[in-house]
Amino acid sequence: MRVQVKLACTECKQRNYDTTKNKRTNPDRIELKKYCKFCKKHTLHKETK
Ligand SMILES: [Zn+2]
Repeated sequence: MRVQVKLACTECKQRNYDTTKNKRTNPDRIELKKYCKFCKKHTLHKETK
């Protein structure tokens, strides 16, 4: 049930992270605070396809 997703910075739109999520426990788009090397700070990263 685990699917691969990419996390994109909501500020610069760069896709910085690859991760997996459980589709059953996370049916919606996930949002995580992660460090963006382009913004040089922690920003909100959202799941993208
Ligand atoms: Zn960024």
